Amino acid sequence: MGIFKKFFDKLKYTFKRTELNDDFYDELESILISSDMGVETAMDIMDELRDVCKKKLIKDVERAQIELKQLLIDKLNVQPVEFDYPMIITVVGVNGVGKTTSIAKMTKYFLNKKKNVILAAGDTFRAAATEQLSNWAEKLKVKIIKQGEGADSAAVVFDAISSMKAKNNDVLIVDTAGRLHTKTNLMKELEKINNIINREYPEAKKMNLIVLDASIGQNSIAQVKAFKDSVNIDGIILTKLDGTSKGGVVYPIINELHVPIIFTGFGEGVDDLDVFDAENFVNKILM
Ligand code: GDP
Repeated sequence: MGIFKKFFDKLKYTFKRTELNDDFYDELESILISSDMGVETAMDIMDELRDVCKKKLIKDVERAQIELKQLLIDKLNVQPVEFDYPMIITVVGVNGVGKTTSIAKMTKYFLNKKKNVILAAGDTFRAAATEQLSNWAEKLKVKIIKQGEGADSAAVVFDAISSMKAKNNDVLIVDTAGRLHTKTNLMKELEKINNIINREYPEAKKMNLIVLDASIGQNSIAQVKAFKDSVNIDGIILTKLDGTSKGGVVYPIINELHVPIIFTGFGEGVDDLDVFDAENFVNKILM
């Protein structure tokens, strides 16, 4: 259940409180802030909610809940994403955020759309990463291009593009290493991968997506900034939204970084992925 629904249900059913008062606004404000929405956004939403309730002469908790929901949706200001094919998605992110699982989920998403998908095991730094991705490829019955541990990841991507073109695949998803402690090498590697993709398949639509773990809240902003210094980031896959009360972090991500959220992950299963949609997100995670 979403964090705001919990709050409203408590007011309505436990306290049987139905009227708006200062306690209501104070408590709501602290929930907004604890959701990692950022103080500025939280303050804005509070001001707007007070205004709208005053204007519309709203005095009850139930109607305030409806107004809050609309404000939360409006503030996200999401443009629907368009996928064009052939498309090459390069997935970056720090180890452990859910990169491999997200690649599997996206594969399933595009397979459901009747697209041909091929994977490139570009994280050649860890043998386990290639193995984990290969297991998913087998389960999902898609081709994976891989080489041994320590291989040049750009060479893996080169091979994957050749195979993609030969087989007329619609989507290539490239996994990359996530070892941020060797940042300079990693960023050079990502640049090289991007160069290969641009050189070998200029007609393909390209998307660099960063995977972020929502449960780490505002720290994810720093991760985007670290990658953005070297590679272009077109969008975000926000994972682990299940069981976190930090869903509000989407607000600073959208407002401060101006990078769109493309997918959200809310579980370990291969179907636990949504294309980001403001209303659906607010309903599912916040309300
Ligand atoms: P990687 O190191 O970034 O490739 O991360 P993995 O894909 O291996 O995921 C790390 C752990 O997080 C695994 O145990 C996954 O099952 C788990 N995980 C990934 N995405 C989600 C999610 O959306 N929700 C939850 N609860 N767990 C997730």
